[in-house]
Amino acid sequence: MTLEVAGTSNDGYPLYVEKFGENDPKKKRVLITSQIHGNEPLTTEAVVELMQKLSTGGNEVSKILDEVTIWFMPRINPDGTMNQYEGKQYPTRYTHQTWDPVSFGLPEGTKAPWYYNSDGSERAQNNNGWVVYGIPGFDQNRDYNPNLDFKVEDFDPETIASFLNSRDNNSNVGGLFVTPEARAVTKVFKELRPDVYLDLHHRGFNRLSEEDSRSVSIQVAAVVADPYTDPFTGKQY
Ligand SMILES: [Zn+2]
Repeated sequence: MTLEVAGTSNDGYPLYVEKFGENDPKKKRVLITSQIHGNEPLTTEAVVELMQKLSTGGNEVSKILDEVTIWFMPRINPDGTMNQYEGKQYPTRYTHQTWDPVSFGLPEGTKAPWYYNSDGSERAQNNNGWVVYGIPGFDQNRDYNPNLDFKVEDFDPETIASFLNSRDNNSNVGGLFVTPEARAVTKVFKELRPDVYLDLHHRGFNRLSEEDSRSVSIQVAAVVADPYTDPFTGKQY
């Protein structure tokens, strides 16, 4: 296993990638990320266990790694994970980052992408009320774009600004890669070009069905996206 730093979060935490195997075209390639939502810690626990297992060597592990290259990026939202509220650690869904259009070459006052959490607030962890911790950030899970090379800085600033200031800046459009975290993950994604990408979430409690009240321990959400047209280039994905 090799350990590398793929980038840094807005608050300066390293974003690690643990590589079990090289990018070998003869093998299947898997990328696994965890805790894109800082308040979903179980996914990182699971990834650490998997990495420990793969580090032990032995026949079973060698057999797997002969066939499959697996890269992990655990805890890709460290700022949300380390968020504080009333002097205590209070992990949040969102990253930490104040929208600064000028730093992207955009006119001052340009509105943020729709997945910006401008006041640093979210529903309380016990679902009872609302917590304002006061540090703005983004839902990194919405910051990705099917065009892996998309960069706000590559476009005419007026085009991007008029889009962001319009009503089209809503959940029908892809992300703009404005967070350093999404940019770091995408850099690794482009390096590996995985056959399978697992982005692990840790969500609330669900039952099997209305009739069967046994709890669900794992859910898989497969690709369900409709064809997507990039609003800036007209390109289809
Ligand atoms: Zn999540």
